[in-house]
Amino acid sequence: MPKRDLLADYHRKRDFSASPEPTGGRAKRGKPRRYCIQKHLASHLHYDFRLEHRGVLLSWAVPKGPSLDPKTKRLAMHVEDHPYDYGDFEGVIPSGYGAGIVMLWDAGTWTPEVEDVDAALARGELKFSLTGVKMKGSWVLVRTHGRQGGDRGWLLIKHADEWSSPDLDIESAAPLSVTSGGDFADILAADQPDLWQSDRPARGGVAGAMLGEIIAQAAAIRAGRGRKRATRRSPQPAR
Ligand code: MN
Repeated sequence: MPKRDLLADYHRKRDFSASPEPTGGRAKRGKPRRYCIQKHLASHLHYDFRLEHRGVLLSWAVPKGPSLDPKTKRLAMHVEDHPYDYGDFEGVIPSGYGAGIVMLWDAGTWTPEVEDVDAALARGELKFSLTGVKMKGSWVLVRTHGRQGGDRGWLLIKHADEWSSPDLDIESAAPLSVTSGGDFADILAADQPDLWQSDRPARGGVAGAMLGEIIAQAAAIRAGRGRKRATRRSPQPAR
């Protein structure tokens, strides 16, 4: 197979003098394959689902996030491969491509349930199991062949097993970062709380409203009067 730059699209879309995102670290040989989901509040809220393969992270943007209900098929838009060390990334992208807040929402390892991952991807049906903090058990990614999401559309579906659940909404049951324990406001407060006083990555719609609230919360956390940190750390009832 000819060598090609798997991260060419990733690099083309980003200006690393302006973005704190990883420029591209190498996968560790012989380690289990890495898996992660990043909750990303950009122009729209979505969940970036990533599976390590051939030293990079195959990536799908899942607008509604994964569902533990086998009957609920979630649209997953195939996007450019990301570098292996993107799996550690959590923080604020101040401007440019993907501008917004990235939370490491789940992390762990994955195991293909097929012999040949490349063949499965080419066929449009990849079965695998996840060993994450929040997501476990057997899953499948199935290409839609244009029926949803155009030629990049796939569906992320949970197989019925001991980890599936018809009614647990995992996004609201476990909304926080698996690395910092924080929410979007905590991540913004720890990074650059004053960043978007003027030019926000999202203004209108649901994401714009969410971001407005998060910016205010981050400022409050930074000022030491944040409801979040105060309620999380102190056992006294709120005044
Ligand atoms: Mn994203």
